[in-house]
Amino acid sequence: MGEKAEKTAIERFKSEPLIFERSSKGRAGVLPPAPDVPSVCPEDVLPAGFLRGDIEGFPEVSEGDCVRHYTRLSQMNIGVDSAMYPLGSCTMKYNPKVNEDTSRLSGFSALHPYQPEELCQGALGLMHELEGYLCEISGMDAVTLQGAAGAQGELCGLLMAGAYFRAKGRPRLKVLIPDTAHGTNPASSSLAGFSVVRVASGSDGVIHPEDVKKLMDRDTAALLLTNPNTLGLFEENIMEIADIVHSKGGLLYCDGANMNALMGIMKLGDMGVDLVQMNLHKTFSTPHGGGGPGSGPLGVKKALVPYLPVPRIRKKGRRFALDFNKKKSIGRLKAFYGHFSIMVRAYTYIRLMGYRGLRRASEMAVLNANYMKERLKKSYHLPFDRTCMHECVLSDRLQTPKGVTTLDIAKRLIDYGFHPPTIYFPFLVQGAMMIEPTETEGVETLDDFMEAMEAIAKEAEENPRLLKDAPHTTRISRVDETWAAREPVLRWTGEKLKIHSGCSKSSRCKASRSEE
Ligand SMILES: *Cc1c(COP(=O)(O)O)cnc(C)c1O
Repeated sequence: MGEKAEKTAIERFKSEPLIFERSSKGRAGVLPPAPDVPSVCPEDVLPAGFLRGDIEGFPEVSEGDCVRHYTRLSQMNIGVDSAMYPLGSCTMKYNPKVNEDTSRLSGFSALHPYQPEELCQGALGLMHELEGYLCEISGMDAVTLQGAAGAQGELCGLLMAGAYFRAKGRPRLKVLIPDTAHGTNPASSSLAGFSVVRVASGSDGVIHPEDVKKLMDRDTAALLLTNPNTLGLFEENIMEIADIVHSKGGLLYCDGANMNALMGIMKLGDMGVDLVQMNLHKTFSTPHGGGGPGSGPLGVKKALVPYLPVPRIRKKGRRFALDFNKKKSIGRLKAFYGHFSIMVRAYTYIRLMGYRGLRRASEMAVLNANYMKERLKKSYHLPFDRTCMHECVLSDRLQTPKGVTTLDIAKRLIDYGFHPPTIYFPFLVQGAMMIEPTETEGVETLDDFMEAMEAIAKEAEENPRLLKDAPHTTRISRVDETWAAREPVLRWTGEKLKIHSGCSKSSRCKASRSEE
């Protein structure tokens, strides 16, 4: 290989150029056909505010350049389609491709939200049925599908709790949140106007009734519990805690983002929970990560039904209709009806699995997590050595004396071909590694992962320096994550690419006229 060519090849491997840098003036990926309607000059028909001006440095590439660029970028990543992705609390299970087929059926994907009800009966029927399945799974009386993500489902529940107490004539302004909670719980509470009181978990990692009793009063609207909690432990005192909260007239809210240990085994509604949000994009297998879209339906008990957001889907005889006429409703939560395509995916998954399948998924998720916990606790510190649910939390305590931290272990895992687990969360465990294998991994993959973890523990003993600048096999090694988050480069400002001078009125009109 020539020296120059080799250097270029290495460069290309290490750093894919930006799509802007691939640009060549006049190159095009798609050539749209000439319009079959009369052309007009945009300036003549659109108000100036709606016209897009120049797009500085807009990349001009061929279809091949474009496809290869994005394919190469995707190959630099680890995803559920390429490897195990044990990101705790995120339930990165394999997403069956049949979900993608159904969500792309043109009757669903080409539907417009302004289409009249008579023309979207199938979609409304699917949503109505999905609400019913989620009621059944969670043990709730009604479900709204509007929440665009788990956090918005939480916000919806908290706004409803606020409205519920205001309607009773005695507003409540506090919520209780355990120290094991997901960060979205206090954030959603504060957004809904509540102040947050922290409940400390016990040395066994769960919440104790006597601690709730001390804090619960008639100014407290709700206790926000996550069950299983973020340590992967089942809050076994939930029934007693529910009684304490209810005895003061309060509500028990359950963050059900991670229901992967519960499906078909227990219903939160039977345990005294009054409100629960469920993340369709976790438990119910739809692709997520990188910012969505998600879906965070909220289930509630009867007393809260009047406060659900509008519109509600009603079944009248064999027809479905949207009901906006709800006096006590908190109003609209989201434009239109929520993230519909995610609902189609979750619906497909639930129908495909059935009751037995969902129950088996939960059983296997719990089995897989415990299988890993029992072996990994020989090489890593396990802060809470009890039966876990769908995930387990380890720490770097055995490795820190050698100067090796959770971050080093996580980065080194990438060299072994695995996505790292969730790290440094929950905050309760110093140097936490939160591992959630999910039910979709076979025993061979679990063994491979654990072998990698054991090899890393050995490296930490024998050659800790090897871990400090891992990963070594990726195109880009360890990045400064703080700097990358604080100073993101979101706009191309490259000098050499002053291409695409933009269309002046005359050139755009000339172009459209010449086609006539
Ligand atoms: C993921 C998660 C959330 C937030 O869900 P989003 O869809 O990211 O808003 C809330 N609580 C718990 C326990 C979670 O795991």
